[in-house]
Amino acid sequence: MRVLVTGGAGFIGSHLCDRLLAAGDEVICVDNFFTGTRANVAHLRDHLNFELIRHDITEPIRLEVDRIYHLACPASPIHYQYNPVKTVKTSVLGTLNMLGLAKRVRARILLASTSEVYGDPLVHPQNEDYWGHVNPIGIRSCYDESKRLAETLMMDYHRQNRVDIRIIRIFNTYGPRMSEGDGRVVSNFLFQALRGEPLTVYGEGQQTRSFCYVSDLVEGMIRLMNGEHIGPINIGNPDEFTILELAEQVRALVNPELPIIFKPLPSDDPRQRQPDIARARTLLGWEPTVPLAEGLRRTVVEFRHRLGLDG
Ligand code: NAD
Ligand code: UDP
Ligand code: UDP
Repeated sequence: MRVLVTGGAGFIGSHLCDRLLAAGDEVICVDNFFTGTRANVAHLRDHLNFELIRHDITEPIRLEVDRIYHLACPASPIHYQYNPVKTVKTSVLGTLNMLGLAKRVRARILLASTSEVYGDPLVHPQNEDYWGHVNPIGIRSCYDESKRLAETLMMDYHRQNRVDIRIIRIFNTYGPRMSEGDGRVVSNFLFQALRGEPLTVYGEGQQTRSFCYVSDLVEGMIRLMNGEHIGPINIGNPDEFTILELAEQVRALVNPELPIIFKPLPSDDPRQRQPDIARARTLLGWEPTVPLAEGLRRTVVEFRHRLGLDG
C-alpha cells in the first residue's frame, strides 16, 4: 500500500510513519515543518520505503496514493493560536485539498479530528453523538471550529462524491517526540521537572483530562483506517485525572521535592474531558493498554535523552 501521511514529521505522525513502515507500507510524509521537525523522522531517512516532502497543504498537491492519514494541523494552543488565520486555512483548505486528492485517486482518507469538537462539554463522558458546546468566537475557535468544518467537509465529500472516509476524534495524547515548547501540560510538567523548575498548574488544577499514550492512539487510528466504520470514533484513554493529580504523578516520577505554582486559567479552558470509548471497543476491538504512570516513564526516557541528561 502507498500511504500519504500529512503532518508526518509531527509528534503523532512520526509514530504513525514508524508503524506503517514496520507493517511494510510505502510511506510519503508531507509536512511544512511548522511544528514538526526533520529530527522526528531522521531515523527513517535511509528507509527505502520512506519519502519526505516539504509542502504546505494549504496549496494543492498531486500524488498517487492508496491511503491518506491526514494529520497536518498545529495542535497545541500555543501553536494554533500563534497564527489563528493560518490554523483555519490549514484545517479547512488543507482538508479540502486532501479530499480533492482522495477523490481524484480514489484513496481512502482518515481525518485526525479532535475531542475539541466537543468544546467545553455539557455531557460527560463525551460520546460521538454529542454535538458539542463550542464558542465560535473565542481564542480556541480557530482550532475547534475549523476541525468541526473539516469533519463537515469529510462527510460532504463522502455523501456527494462517495469518497471513502474515516474520522477519528483524538483525545489528549502524549509520548516521546512531543515538541518541547508546545505548552501542553504533559510536556510542560515533564520538561519543568527535568530542569528542576516548579510545575505550573493553571487555575486550581481541578480541571480534568484523560491522557492516551501515543502507541495506543496509533493502534486505534490504524484499526479505524483498516476497518469498515467511517466514524467519527473517539480514541483516547478514559482514565481521568485532575491536572493536580498529574502534577503529583510527575513529581513522584522525577522529583518529589518539586514545588507547584499556580497560574491563571486560560480562557475557554475546558473543565473536564473524558472519552466514551464504547464505540471503539465494540467496532474496532480497541482499548488503551498503557497506564499513565507507565506512559510517563517511557516518555521521560526520551525527554531526558533530548536534554542530554542521560549520560
Ligand atoms: P504536531 O504539531 O506535532 O503535528 C502536526 C504536524 O503538521 C507538524 O509536523 C506540522 O509541521 C504539520 N503542519 C502544520 N501545518 C501544516 C501545513 N499547513 N502543511 C503541512 N504540514 C503542516 O501535532 P500532533 O500532536 O502530532 O497532532 C497531529 C494531529 O492530531 C493534528 O491534526 C491534531 O489536531 C490531532 N490531534 C492531536 C491531539 C494530541 O493530543 N496530540 C489531540 C487531538 C487531535
Ligand atoms: N486537489 C489537490 N490534489 C489533487 C486533486 C485536487 O490538491 O490531486 C485540490 C484542488 O486543487 C482543489 C481541492 O483539492 O483545491 C478540491 O478538489 P475538488 O476536485 O473536489 O474541487 P475543485 O477542484 O473542482 O474545486
Ligand atoms: N495546563 C496546566 N499547566 C501547564 C499547561 C497546561 O495546568 O503548564 C492545563 C491547561 O490549562 C488545561 C490542561 O492542563 O486545563 C491541559 O492542557 P493542554 O494544553 O495540554 O491540553 P488541552 O487544554 O488542549 O486539552
